[in-house]
Amino acid sequence: RLYNEVQDLKGNIRVYCRIRPFLPGQSKKHTTIEFIGENGELVIMNPSKGKDSRRMFKFNKVFHPTSTQEEVFMDTQPLIRSVLDGYNVCIFAYGQTGSGKTYTMSGPSVSSKEDWGVNYRALNDLFQISQSRKSSIAYEVGVQMVEIYNEQVRDLLSSDGPQKRLGIWSTTQPNGLAVPDASMHSVQSTSDVLEFMHIGLMNRAVGATALNERSSRSHSVLTVHVRGMDLETNAVLRGCLHLVDLAGSERAQHINKSLSALGDVIFALAQKSSHVPYRNSKLTQVLQSSLGGQAKTLMFVQLNPDTDSYSETISTLKFAERVS
Ligand code: ADP
Ligand code: MG
Repeated sequence: RLYNEVQDLKGNIRVYCRIRPFLPGQSKKHTTIEFIGENGELVIMNPSKGKDSRRMFKFNKVFHPTSTQEEVFMDTQPLIRSVLDGYNVCIFAYGQTGSGKTYTMSGPSVSSKEDWGVNYRALNDLFQISQSRKSSIAYEVGVQMVEIYNEQVRDLLSSDGPQKRLGIWSTTQPNGLAVPDASMHSVQSTSDVLEFMHIGLMNRAVGATALNERSSRSHSVLTVHVRGMDLETNAVLRGCLHLVDLAGSERAQHINKSLSALGDVIFALAQKSSHVPYRNSKLTQVLQSSLGGQAKTLMFVQLNPDTDSYSETISTLKFAERVS
């Protein structure tokens, strides 16, 4: 049932909004969030400008600040199953630095399962479902992880470190690999993937200024490649899951070519435009196979609740409005 619901999406793009709670020490009086509806409505207001500044936005779903990681994943889950059915899926979070992108995608810590973000829950599901099908389909799973920084692509899982710049191939290659020179690692379980993600995170920090600084300016893409062979017919299916930690969307970064190119691609897809400008950035080239066509895309729009973030919140919402 859920699976059909996802297939019925307009252009297979789904947009969820998630509002982060106030952090300890922040005053809850100063919020821009006026109203959250049951059906994806969100009303924003700038309290210092009064009721005339009210604006309404509409999403497939809005998650309250109190929503748990589990609740958020329940609405993401059907996409994961479709990867094992041979679809390509892309999940990413968009928003200013500090709005909860990493919290949604990875969670605040890996140690407690309750805190697990979309990434870990998705992988857990992926392995669990593939196990449950093992009498009929033999699955192989491999991961790659790259970083895009200043329009250069680097392998975060290379044993030589992330120094080397990688080229991108057309995704029409038979094996479907967009970055064929990025190392591919075979994985058996969620904990295998966690290990690689940890290595990737460490490599992301190498030679850079603080990790936070880098993560606010670069995109990291974890690609999970799934190959399933039907044990009866020997037919092979391939699916891939892109889990993306995007750079911060703050205005200072509007020079981030990949981020605005991603917006343009999603906009073109949402409009069902005949020309989709994938070639305009490295990020959109890397993600091409999971944006458009039969692929399913999920975007989390992350918001800060406080009035100080008002203008960034509006600019994030305008980005979302264009594509939803
Ligand atoms: P980003 O990756 O967008 O820069 P983070 O995910 O690092 O933002 O979130 C910023 C801070 O807010 C972190 O301390 C994070 O733990 C906290 N946070 C974000 N979202 C939530 C949430 N839904 N519940 C509780 N804390 C959150
Ligand atoms: Mg982050």
